[in-house]
Amino acid sequence: MRRILTFAAALALAGTAPCFASAERGAEAAGEALAATVTTQLPRTVRPVHYAIDVAPDAGALRFDGRVSIDLEVLEATDRIVLQAVDMTFSDSALVDAGGKSRRAKVSVDAARQNASFTFRRKLKPGRYTLATRYSGRIGTQANGLFALDYPTAEGSRRALFTQFENSDARRFVPSWDEPFHKATFDLAVTARDGDMVVGNMPVASVEDLADGRRKVVFQTTPRMSTYLLFLAIGEFDRIAMPSDGDVEIGVVAQRGKAEQALFALDATADILRAYDDYFGVAYPLPKLDNIAAPGRSQFFSAMENWGAIFTFEHSFLLDPAIASTADRQRVFSLTAHEIAHQWFGNLVTMAWWDDLWLNEGFATWLAGRTTRALHPEWDRSGVRPAFTSRGAMGQDAYATSHPVVQHVETVEQASQAFDGITYGKGAAVIAMLEDYVGENAWREGVRSYIRRHAYGNAVTDDLWRAMEQAAPGRQFLAVAHDFTRQTGVPLIRASSTCVDGRTVVTLAQGEFTMDRPDKTPLHWRVPVSVRAGEGEPVRVLVDGTARVELPGCEAPVRVNAGQKGYFRTLYEPTQFKALAADFAALPAVDQLGLMLDAGALAGVGLQPEADLLDLAMQVPLDAAPELWQLVSSTLEEIDDLLRDDAQRQKAFRAFARQHLAAKFQTLGWEVRGEDDATLRQLRTGLIRTLGLFEDPQVLAEARRRFDASSSDPAALPAELRRTVLGVVARGADAGTWDRLHAMARGEVSAMLRDQYYGLLASAADAALARRALDMALTGEPGATNGAAMISGVSFEHPDLAFDFAVAHREQVDRLVDSTSRARYYPRLGAGSRKVETAANIRAFAERHLDSRSRREAETAAVGIETRARLREARLPHVNAWLLQRGI
Ligand SMILES: [Zn+2]
Repeated sequence: MRRILTFAAALALAGTAPCFASAERGAEAAGEALAATVTTQLPRTVRPVHYAIDVAPDAGALRFDGRVSIDLEVLEATDRIVLQAVDMTFSDSALVDAGGKSRRAKVSVDAARQNASFTFRRKLKPGRYTLATRYSGRIGTQANGLFALDYPTAEGSRRALFTQFENSDARRFVPSWDEPFHKATFDLAVTARDGDMVVGNMPVASVEDLADGRRKVVFQTTPRMSTYLLFLAIGEFDRIAMPSDGDVEIGVVAQRGKAEQALFALDATADILRAYDDYFGVAYPLPKLDNIAAPGRSQFFSAMENWGAIFTFEHSFLLDPAIASTADRQRVFSLTAHEIAHQWFGNLVTMAWWDDLWLNEGFATWLAGRTTRALHPEWDRSGVRPAFTSRGAMGQDAYATSHPVVQHVETVEQASQAFDGITYGKGAAVIAMLEDYVGENAWREGVRSYIRRHAYGNAVTDDLWRAMEQAAPGRQFLAVAHDFTRQTGVPLIRASSTCVDGRTVVTLAQGEFTMDRPDKTPLHWRVPVSVRAGEGEPVRVLVDGTARVELPGCEAPVRVNAGQKGYFRTLYEPTQFKALAADFAALPAVDQLGLMLDAGALAGVGLQPEADLLDLAMQVPLDAAPELWQLVSSTLEEIDDLLRDDAQRQKAFRAFARQHLAAKFQTLGWEVRGEDDATLRQLRTGLIRTLGLFEDPQVLAEARRRFDASSSDPAALPAELRRTVLGVVARGADAGTWDRLHAMARGEVSAMLRDQYYGLLASAADAALARRALDMALTGEPGATNGAAMISGVSFEHPDLAFDFAVAHREQVDRLVDSTSRARYYPRLGAGSRKVETAANIRAFAERHLDSRSRREAETAAVGIETRARLREARLPHVNAWLLQRGI
């Protein structure tokens, strides 16, 4: 059942707010020990207890006035209270002690340190106080702090306000101890125009009509939480809400007229909440959980898990029936599952400091994946997705520029850079491996006891490990967990086998897989490995340097990392690999995928013959899992890229590759059939995209035909094909087509569609059109949050052009990217370059413009370019030899 709640009903439900007090006091006590050691940029002399915030934003002028009183505790005598604040001015600042005595404070601001000091003539004795101040701040146009998003509607342009505080931008909204360890409770009051909806973390407690026609909306007090989870949105919204099984009010909020497009997400929320209440054994603790859709985009996030008020950009949340594909539905579901997982892992129990960010992001990624597979098995029938996640992380982790899952972070910008493939992808992969190692029941017990123990408080990684050791004693758990979270890098397991007296004896030896340091001395890991021969029982072993496993019989080929839960690559001795390849069609899909992904990575660095990979790609049967064909397709794209500097050979290769992929595409055709499951639908669009890239004349003509027909017949672009067909057309666009797409973008009144069209304008292969897109990105025409996306879009096909352009227009581009993301944004533009000079240019940019502690992303991009250039040189002769054998 779905019902649209009236305001009165919302207030009635709000009365069921639980009492957080006793659990919170427990967490406070547990936190005392951490307080002395946790990293902080503030003095340890004062801590906040409760904030009462009252703000009045002026959306038109992009500024706001605020008032805050902070109940705090002075722990050691001091003459100053230092907290964090950015772009703020202060007035009427005073401190009141427990006896009601007030004293004035002198305020000084340190912009570089992002803090404000309230100093007093006499030292404050330890005890309770309330610090009150008026302040005013800025409303931004990029997604950090309190920010405005303008968007088109059929009635004209609209502006809505939202907040985004992770990792360290609450200090742009309220002067605060803006570090995750400093949990407090929050009262929020907001003055808004009549007719605007105001959404916060908690249900509305009261509404007061003001004399000037505005309204003051007051929210209920939040539970004890970190500042980065505070949320506010104001705008012309609709909300649809319903009760969950557990009497939590779940709701979706979107721009007026669009809330219906969030009903899929609302249903998903109900299913996911039920699953998580069960998994964690602790029910979702707030009275309501909203998910708020916002137009526009950020370069760095799609959604944010604010407690009780998740924020998600429309492109990853709303499903417009005319254009939403199966892939869109999957994205909405898994993103919603990710953000809801944070309501426990992150919000209820929060990492003490950004060193342990993976506790948030690794867990949310892993649990969202696990829950999506459980609730929608039809989206991943072969269970191969986790293998893609782990191999994706290995790509980054095999470079010297990688970092351990648990890493030390000092600055705000370093914290911001920690939101990367290691923290998310490797974090999730290591959890999946450890869960497999201790068993899913023991793992869940460990998670439950960790959540119970640290609810409303903070924790570090070893707190979780302690809970796990108790749940699964005696398994060297800690050794394995530390090896994979405290060390950088990817283990390599070399496998060989012999037949002794009718039994297979497998020898495993651990080395290290690296992309950029072939002579590196391997690190040491204790690696859980599962070994299996044919359909036999898998045998588990902990490889500590080397290991020996015996399996019955000698006939079936042996596979290592059976089920692909282990975070390592496998290098088989040649005869063993050949035996597996010969038996390829009989392997489970997940192991077919693992074998191919590892062979590809190992061939890439010269550890395995190129022919092993290519032969494998050619022998994937027509009826293999669709994901395998996606992999064939991407393998062929990789070879195509290797041949870029040899136009003639690339042309011949493309003809060969087209023929190979067309055989599979013919079994699917253009039209979606009712019985096609999600993976087949995605394979269809994937093949259209790759065949378009390989300039398949039939695919290009059909895409063009459908695009032309769509202006009079929308059915020519069914939702499942629309984005793919437009992508093929836009990539190959000539000036006339580009102008037509431009006209479509300008005339569009749906924010989401308009953003898509501007994205398409940035994807042209033609360099002159790419330049036009770059120029347009700076004009403001595409909208404040689309400019940076357009430059990124151009960088896929033209990395050097995009990077040089952005650097040349740095002042303008800086305004299109939120400030803490610049250290990532510029280097990524050039990261795909094939020119070694670009690596030097990226380093030069970093030296000139980035803090020395914020250059990892730049160094990663530069080393990636150099390494790929070197590996290309080494690979090409082998690839060419294989092609020659086939007359190419
Ligand atoms: Zn997350």
